[in-house]
Amino acid sequence: MKKVLIATKNEGKVKEFTFMFSEMGLEVTSLLDVENTPDVEETGTTFAENAALKAEEISELYNIPVIADDSGLVIDALDGRPGVFSARYAGIEKDDNKNMDKVLDEMRSVPPEERSARFVCALAVARPGMETLIVEGYCEGEIGYKKTGSNGFGYDPIFVVGHTSSTMAELTKEEKNKISHRANAMAKLKDQMHLLF
Ligand code: IMP
Repeated sequence: MKKVLIATKNEGKVKEFTFMFSEMGLEVTSLLDVENTPDVEETGTTFAENAALKAEEISELYNIPVIADDSGLVIDALDGRPGVFSARYAGIEKDDNKNMDKVLDEMRSVPPEERSARFVCALAVARPGMETLIVEGYCEGEIGYKKTGSNGFGYDPIFVVGHTSSTMAELTKEEKNKISHRANAMAKLKDQMHLLF
């Protein structure tokens, strides 16, 4: 059976990937199963670069195919911020509330027609000695004026999903999984996986 390592310790992500790849006949492990893997510094300026950095470093280390992801929020009126700094926009520690407050503050005087934004998810598949495959998925929407809803995580309560009046945090998990940037990127990857394995 072909093996693939998912470069994350996030249980939710591991579950999603395991489901998708076991359907394709691949044996999936993750960093939850491997001890003492060094943290890869996310020094890239794009989600794609960061995903590739992580996948390639860990693939080289263990000499097996590795899949890594990087994701975040891009706001047009803020020249793409928080972007690759999404997790730590308001400081070093990951604090969703502080991150959202900072965005709401910076967006306070931005008119409704200029509040467009998107969630982006980059997935990279690195294989020893081969070129890395990268796909990106998107979810379009707008930044609201306050936090609404309690589902999801990160910036979900201030992200109004395109063509709806609901924030991402008002959707059920199932609804989010149909339209999310991650689902979108996973679908693209699934389309291309047969070329790799
Ligand atoms: P990571 O790629 O899982 O490290 O996510 C980076 C950061 O982007 C997270 O800490 C969140 O702030 C933000 N983010 C990524 N995906 C989502 C999402 O689906 N909803 C809300 N925020 C997200």
